[in-house]
Amino acid sequence: VLQRPVRVRFAPSPTGQLHVGGARTALFNWLHARKHSGIFMLRIEDTDLSRSTRENEESLLRDLRWLGLDWDYGPEGVTNNSNLEELKKLGPLRQSERGFIYKKYVEKLHSEGFVYPCFCSEEELERQRIEMEASGQTPKYAGTCRHLTPTEIEKQIAAGVPYVFRFKVPKDTKIVLHDIVRGDVVWDAEATFGDFIVMRSNGVPVYNFCVAIDDALMEISTVIRAEEHLTNTVRQILVLHALGFPLPSYAHCSLILGEDRTKLSKRHGATSVNQFRSEGYLPEALINYLALLGWHDGTEQEFYSREELTKSFSLSRLSKAPAVFDIEKLRWMNARY
Ligand code: GLU
Repeated sequence: VLQRPVRVRFAPSPTGQLHVGGARTALFNWLHARKHSGIFMLRIEDTDLSRSTRENEESLLRDLRWLGLDWDYGPEGVTNNSNLEELKKLGPLRQSERGFIYKKYVEKLHSEGFVYPCFCSEEELERQRIEMEASGQTPKYAGTCRHLTPTEIEKQIAAGVPYVFRFKVPKDTKIVLHDIVRGDVVWDAEATFGDFIVMRSNGVPVYNFCVAIDDALMEISTVIRAEEHLTNTVRQILVLHALGFPLPSYAHCSLILGEDRTKLSKRHGATSVNQFRSEGYLPEALINYLALLGWHDGTEQEFYSREELTKSFSLSRLSKAPAVFDIEKLRWMNARY
């Protein structure tokens, strides 16, 4: 892990409205950047074209602006500060516009032997899955195409068989992640999953691959995101290692639960920033409330100005336990603003 100037990103998928969980992730990133006079970037993760829309992207941007979480570089380029002109070399920060970049890295990995073309059909993969499940194994790719000879590969390509690129997961490799919130997390990559796809047969790279490449090129110092992304980290680290990129540090924030202690969702009532805005909540109250959802500075203080939050915020004080979203508390707080 490299010591870098602070550069963080919020990376929403525009598949819906900004949810309180996403807003909290954005806030923690923003606070970390502003506290250390670092750079806060906004990256739009729209690789899933069937679920991503421009309307959702626009509403995400509008909600972030309403919350006062301004970014220095985003899908529209440099926003804040002309001193950041050098960031322009990053190119567009909308993943659907970065295909040419991902392609270059798949080619690099291919020429260095880290990925290989896989010609297995859906039927073949299904057969492997059933066989493994029947013998009590966790289903994963059996590695059939890992050892094809160059002649066999050429033959398949000449015959027009579609293929994906798979990452060769090294055997007996333990991946240890020193997570700022969760402590050391250890994975046995090969035992957990087989050789995973980095690029589909239509040339579209998969989500985890794009995230790894973008975090590296954007020189992200710390990835701050929700706990549900923890398992993605293994694949991302394998890709980063293979390309010789230094690793960012990671902070995986705990889940937000509803009052019944299940993961906060629409069932629990208003959960999108847009809903709170239209109900007349004040952005400052929402920011104050969200900051305390999984973070505290060790004091009893409840009301913080944005400046106070920026001053007191520290990743080392993010809580490992899940936070419970309490609408009454938010209402109470809002009434006092
Ligand atoms: N696009 C992901 C999401 O919206 C975030 C992934 C990340 O932060 O690495 O949940």
